[in-house]
Amino acid sequence: MCLNLRRFCSCSRNSAYLSCRDNLLPAEILVNLFCPECRPGSIENDTMLQDCGWVLEYDVDRAQDYFTVRGIRGRATPGFIFDAGYLSWQGLAPGDQEVNTRLHQRLAPLVEQDLALYLKSLRSEWVAHVARLKAAGWRKAQAT
Ligand SMILES: [Zn+2]
Repeated sequence: MCLNLRRFCSCSRNSAYLSCRDNLLPAEILVNLFCPECRPGSIENDTMLQDCGWVLEYDVDRAQDYFTVRGIRGRATPGFIFDAGYLSWQGLAPGDQEVNTRLHQRLAPLVEQDLALYLKSLRSEWVAHVARLKAAGWRKAQAT
């Protein structure tokens, strides 16, 4: 399973949580992950996708083999692999998992005090988070 997969970037200073739709592609199809601090100077659009300073580099040829075998009609471009969720951020951005965990921890005391308020706060804070990601230009957030 590559659900909840955490991957460090090339320089190991940052990490991202990834998800693989239907477990169709193995995690190593993402041959390189670069954070804004270690990203390459130039982007190879045939194999790389950039998202707010992060760069994902895919083995598109191997991904194409998996797609062909499984009858996926899309061509294995970085954009398709990412947007269709076959090997992409878990959530909308690399740090979403941690943001979500921190939010739950922060609001946890409300559970016993006022469950309705807890659920309402959880929802409104998450909506605000997504709006911030969207404004910052994160690719998956644009589709929300
Ligand atoms: Zn890095």
